Amino acid sequence: MSSCPTLRIALPVPLPQAFDYLPPAGGPAPSQADVGRRLRVPFGSRELVGMVEGIGGSDDPAGLKAALEWLDPAPLLGGELLASLRWLARYIHAPLGEVVATALPTPLRRGEPLPDTHGWAWELTDAGRDGMPGLRNGSRPQRLATLLADGALAEEVIEARMHDWREPSRALLKRGFVQRVAVPATAPPARPNPGPAPNPQQQAAIEAITAANGFHPFLLDGVTGSGKTEVYLQAIAHCLAQGRQALVLVPEIGLTPQMLARFRARLGIPVHALHSGLNDNERARVWAAAARGEARVVVGTRSAVFTPLPQAGLLVVDEEHDGSYKQQDGIRYHARDFALVRGKALDVPVVLGSATPSLESLHNARAGRYAHLRLQQRAGDARPPAVRVFDVRKRPLQDGLSPEVLEGIGRHLQAGNQVLVFKNRRGYAPVLLCHDCGWTAPCRRCSTPLHATPMTVHGAGRRLQCHHCGARAPVPLACPDCGSLALQPQGIGTERLEERLLQLFPDFPVLRIDRGTTARRDALERTLATLGEQAGILVGTQILAKGHDLPKLTLVVVVGIDEGLFSADFRASEKLAQQLIQVAGRAGRAERPGEVWLQTHHPDNALLHTLVNGGYHAFAEAELAQREAAGFPPFAHLALLRAEVRQVEQANAFLAALKQAIPADDPVERYGPMPAPMPRRAGFQRTQLLLSAPQRRALHALLDALMPQAYALPQARRVRWSLDVDPMDLY
Ligand code: ADP
Ligand code: ZN
Ligand code: ZN
Repeated sequence: MSSCPTLRIALPVPLPQAFDYLPPAGGPAPSQADVGRRLRVPFGSRELVGMVEGIGGSDDPAGLKAALEWLDPAPLLGGELLASLRWLARYIHAPLGEVVATALPTPLRRGEPLPDTHGWAWELTDAGRDGMPGLRNGSRPQRLATLLADGALAEEVIEARMHDWREPSRALLKRGFVQRVAVPATAPPARPNPGPAPNPQQQAAIEAITAANGFHPFLLDGVTGSGKTEVYLQAIAHCLAQGRQALVLVPEIGLTPQMLARFRARLGIPVHALHSGLNDNERARVWAAAARGEARVVVGTRSAVFTPLPQAGLLVVDEEHDGSYKQQDGIRYHARDFALVRGKALDVPVVLGSATPSLESLHNARAGRYAHLRLQQRAGDARPPAVRVFDVRKRPLQDGLSPEVLEGIGRHLQAGNQVLVFKNRRGYAPVLLCHDCGWTAPCRRCSTPLHATPMTVHGAGRRLQCHHCGARAPVPLACPDCGSLALQPQGIGTERLEERLLQLFPDFPVLRIDRGTTARRDALERTLATLGEQAGILVGTQILAKGHDLPKLTLVVVVGIDEGLFSADFRASEKLAQQLIQVAGRAGRAERPGEVWLQTHHPDNALLHTLVNGGYHAFAEAELAQREAAGFPPFAHLALLRAEVRQVEQANAFLAALKQAIPADDPVERYGPMPAPMPRRAGFQRTQLLLSAPQRRALHALLDALMPQAYALPQARRVRWSLDVDPMDLY
């Protein structure tokens, strides 16, 4: 009996397998050349868009459904990108169909064709040539026709030569004198503009990167303002000169119009940006332009790591330590790590840059897996800021600000400079407390083992919001427990600091910048633009730590980092140290020297001490030693299975059944099922099973065996569950 060839189709459904279909009726038999093509298929009562992941065979073709229609004449995905996506699906143990859906821009995911990326040009028709002498001399139609007399011109070119061309073009079109024609978008040759002459450390880094042949990971470890971006730009210019494409990943808040303008000006070529501020069609067009090799430089946030690069020459991950590279739900991938996988598959150099490299990357550099390039001085004339620690124990504080700090803020403002006040707490106050009975406003849907999670006070004390589940409520008029009216916001958030600073420095603008005020991408830039060069105060969360250059900023005050010193999260110290160094790096970026003041109730804290006196690398050494002793990443490899459901017993039963399925002698250590550090969030009971192994291979061998069973467990359908390989935190 001969088996009938079938299409094995990856579908965006949370099931681990591919699905067999017959080709659309009347079409040719399936072949390997179909792999990577999309088609529409019936699935249950729905229609889905899937992608051919391989060719199978069936002995019972009568039992199979036929696909409805092909969506691509030729494979949309292929080569390196498809191979890397297959690798990712295996690594995070996610269905390939869901990985592909995540990697594709929305219109392509929905089945729309690859969009046009061609440009438009205008040309004279025969009628136009004949009619030209009849146009009034010096009129706009006549000038436009004269421009086109030598042949078709691209719209950008016409625009540059005649800014008021659109109206006459319509007039000529009506008379049949001109026509608009599609022309292939060709990448114009890059004309890089020279930047500053590199200093010796930059020069060494540029030479190492441009000399790399094939895959080569680099850690570009340079203090803030040391000229890392200059190194990227020179390496990209070299890559463009070889006729190759470059991809640059930046964190969510790093992709500013200012940064793009710098890239465009220096590289002398269109730079394509990919970020969440674009609409779906714009994203799809950039994707298509990259796939056709028309986009030579793509700069984007996390999901830009899925850009097709048929002529790749270089991958750059800026601020590689940034947490926004990890997707925290759905397909949980890490864009930096995936960039390394792609760099290897593409056989091109990968540059990871940071002033505060992740401990993972430092560990890899120390082990010799990455070439470690260091830039130890600020570029140009800027000097490193002076750091002072203020012990605020027993000091009278005004909304968290000590007299010395207030005096210093006043001094910098009077000198015409800008001051940044950093507090990593959005809202007005973290807690609403009844002064008479001790009641605090709880989130009804979130709690830890000891107490309900407090709601944060917002809106100058009028609204409550839960920062874990987003629930909102008005502030009650009186304490619901004792009826007292003595409800008081406790603790300090950015809103409260803003209010107080406005009172204390009425002659200066005070701008608050946090996720509440900068929901839109360009809001941060616009807010900063309103301040311009005038003296004033910026109050904000770590959103302020990056992006826009602030040459007038001379004082950074860090208020209340103490919460971060005592967190249960194993990465909390690393994150805190990175935030402190990054925010401190904002001070004195231009010729004005900068100061950084840290207020703390714990001046003797070992972490603070090491960081202030030894710098980030001393901190990282100490922290790596602790991680090694405790058996945490990067010395162990983790996978976290999370389950949530309204009844905790069901979540526990699911994870317990999975744990049962692990052979007793498996070397991977397992912890749990146990309640998540926040066991109730948004009304769901949350439990987790943590797997840990010193060797990646052992962990993945176990997951390979375990995950098919997870999908097959009867409980799996009653529970919201997920697997997070290399989790960033254990929450
Ligand atoms: P980073 O990316 O490390 O923060 P940048 O590349 O943005 O640093 O450089 C910081 C500032 O120093 C920028 O204004 C940049 O133009 C300038 N700069 C960089 N390299 C040099 C150099 N070799 N000489 C003079 N100025 C430089
Ligand atoms: Zn009360
Ligand atoms: Zn909540």
